[in-house]
Amino acid sequence: MNKIFVNVENLADLLSIKGQYGKKGIIISGGTDIVVRMKNNMIDPEVLISIKKLAELKGIVARKTKVIIGAGTSLDEIENSTLIKENYYPLYQAVFNMASPQLRNMGTIGGNIGNASPAGDTIPPLFLMDAEIILYSKKGKRSISVTEFFKGPGKTVMRDDEIIHSIILKNNYLTEKNSGYIKVGQRNALAISIASVAYFKDKKYKRFAFGSVSPIIHLIELKFGLSDEQLLKEIESYITPIDDVRATKEYRKQVIINLVKDIYF
Ligand SMILES: Cc1cc2nc3c(=O)[nH]c(=O)nc-3n(C[C@H](O)[C@H](O)[C@H](O)COP(=O)(O)OP(=O)(O)OC[C@H]3O[C@@H](n4cnc5c(N)ncnc54)[C@H](O)[C@@H]3O)c2cc1C
Repeated sequence: MNKIFVNVENLADLLSIKGQYGKKGIIISGGTDIVVRMKNNMIDPEVLISIKKLAELKGIVARKTKVIIGAGTSLDEIENSTLIKENYYPLYQAVFNMASPQLRNMGTIGGNIGNASPAGDTIPPLFLMDAEIILYSKKGKRSISVTEFFKGPGKTVMRDDEIIHSIILKNNYLTEKNSGYIKVGQRNALAISIASVAYFKDKKYKRFAFGSVSPIIHLIELKFGLSDEQLLKEIESYITPIDDVRATKEYRKQVIINLVKDIYF
């Protein structure tokens, strides 16, 4: 099959081309995920739309009450941002622990969200921050809460003519003292997580978002004073881990229980 490769350099062109090709037009940003899937014959896109040169989708901008991250911003730019490290610590920790420096240099936050993997490391921290995902199409712009965006592994509410433009972060009180992101992987430090937890704690309650243990990530809020048994019941109602090549469901469940207990008590 003849393939079409388009290198877009402005947003208007991107929206026009995505509108024209719809489902057939696959966006490639850093390419760290999509190239692997193409090499493994998991996908064979007819039209590849590269957004690598699209400056409008790159960068981190601070506004009065929020921070905007362009979807094409590389993971290492996020890792090296003092603004992110000081105000959105779980996101910094998640990115810091992802893959290798080379991969963080190429991979983008938009690609991590676009993958819609329950193991995507940036996703649980975005739940804690009540992040908004900004989608663009030729028809206009819409904003979706991250809690509404994912519909299952590899599935989102994005229409075929839409692209992820940016991510808006709120809740800028997530510091090294009150929050974090813990990832448990295989021995290889570059590995995708077996289970992970993003958390925030203050005097009244604790918030958790778990990765890799359910098809869709949930945000849960637990008040202080739960017994060991009540805590276990709460956790179990939110996770549905599966067996795969990386771990058994029992192991995943135990990892989450241990992590939450450590943070809660
Ligand atoms: C060796 C290796 C290790 C890895 N380790 C980790 C890890 O530790 N943690 C982790 O979470 N991930 C990991 N990954 C997965 C991947 O690197 C990340 O998900 C990365 O953030 C993807 O970004 P990208 O820009 O390269 O995405 P791409 O490969 O370019 O795209 C990924 C998907 O998102 C879509 N997409 C990209 N940008 C947009 C946009 N603006 N609008 C709409 N759709 C878009 C693409 O169409 C595609 O479906 C790893 C991958 C490899 C190969």
